[in-house]
Amino acid sequence: MEKKKTIAMRYTPVIGLEVHVELKTRSKMFCACSADYFGREPNTHTCPVCLGLPGALPVPNKKAIDWCILIGLALNCDIPLFSKFDRKNYFYPDLSKGYQISQYDEPFCKNGHVKISNGKRINIRRVHMEEDTGKLIHEAVDDQKVSLIDFNRSGVPLVEIVTEPDFESAEEVIEYLKTVQQIVRYLEVSNADMEKGNMRLEPNISLRKIKNSDLPKYKVEVKNINSFKFVEKTINFEIERQKKIFEGGKTPVQETRGWGEAKGETISQRSKEEAHDYRYFPEPDIPPIHWTESQVSHLKSQMIELPQTKFDRLRRVYGLSDYDAEILTKEKKTAIYFEEAVRLAKAIPTKTIANWIINKRIDIQNESVGRLIKQISMSHSSSIDESKLQSAIKDVIKDNEKAVNDYKNGKTSVIMFLIGNVMRKLKTKINPSIMKIALEKALRNSNG
Ligand code: ADP
Ligand code: MG
Ligand code: ZN
Repeated sequence: MEKKKTIAMRYTPVIGLEVHVELKTRSKMFCACSADYFGREPNTHTCPVCLGLPGALPVPNKKAIDWCILIGLALNCDIPLFSKFDRKNYFYPDLSKGYQISQYDEPFCKNGHVKISNGKRINIRRVHMEEDTGKLIHEAVDDQKVSLIDFNRSGVPLVEIVTEPDFESAEEVIEYLKTVQQIVRYLEVSNADMEKGNMRLEPNISLRKIKNSDLPKYKVEVKNINSFKFVEKTINFEIERQKKIFEGGKTPVQETRGWGEAKGETISQRSKEEAHDYRYFPEPDIPPIHWTESQVSHLKSQMIELPQTKFDRLRRVYGLSDYDAEILTKEKKTAIYFEEAVRLAKAIPTKTIANWIINKRIDIQNESVGRLIKQISMSHSSSIDESKLQSAIKDVIKDNEKAVNDYKNGKTSVIMFLIGNVMRKLKTKINPSIMKIALEKALRNSNG
């Protein structure tokens, strides 16, 4: 116990992330094949381009590039006016061309950042566009161990987001990943489902001696992590493993490892000696890209309200708690549903609507906003006829000019007098707090 404590104080984890996000464009990155490959019959979404047949020419997918830049903008990146594609050469059967079309020194987006809840700023080095590879399936066929290749995924648009080594714990990494996932889902450019492989990541992990401000001279990259659970396990395992190596007076070797869930440990895959030289060079079949300022500002103008801004606005405008606002903005469709309900249900307190949605008393996938309002109204002792209520309120405001003026001049207690009048007009008893909210809304909106 004592020993662990001192070690924990002597090293700081240094973690940088490479995150891949598969875009949900209709077609692939450089051909017209359908990019919707999940669960399809192997090798049915292929053509000479994505099979890498000699002589086939790539044609970039404009929508994919636009979406890559939207992601970059959402992550506060700069968009350079010049960009290009490059060939990243390597030999592996999942890539039949012998190279991947990617971006090397001129990515579409640079120098972004994301804030996480502890106030820390995670810097994003670059966001670039590339193509996904085919999928190897290792199987036994007739008792023979074989590797099968499915090229349906080959050429699917892939965006890579690379951070600076700014993380210090698994918690920070997971929060960042959830933020990125939420942003790309808000943008509706990817499902970002880790289990389906739409979002994949490689953490790079090293340990820095506390007194040392330089980056460690080595890093361990862990490949193919496909769940938030494994991210956490991998990082925590690596931190402990590397600590033990330092304790033994050695320095961990720079290498690539993989997460082995069966044993709950990372496993060495390849080390420094085999380090890749990808021999990047400009892709000769795709002309470089020159953006104009106005093209970039056009893309900027397409930016939607992002999760953080929506969260802040919902808190401010509707007086929601952090907790409520967070749940309501977790998914964009929930926030839209909530605001639509608030807009239509003038007589129902905002908090009531929020509670119904948060406590899942209604299934927003299958129930219209109209149904929600009806359900809430019915569940209150007396159901309110929205239009009757509104017209009664309107009449009372019109007929009681003095009281209305008093109210507007700060004598808010006259609201009780006005409520009484509305009740009398309606000849029904309505929950006074609901009535009060409806009346206050109407008073705010009335002229004069
Ligand atoms: P490479 O050239 O090997 O791909 P990069 O410098 O491009 O290495 O960095 C790749 C990723 O590794 C980035 O996310 C970066 O933040 C991270 N990284 C770089 N140095 C370290 C380090 N010492 N410890 C942990 N992560 C690091
Ligand atoms: Mg790398
Ligand atoms: Zn194709």
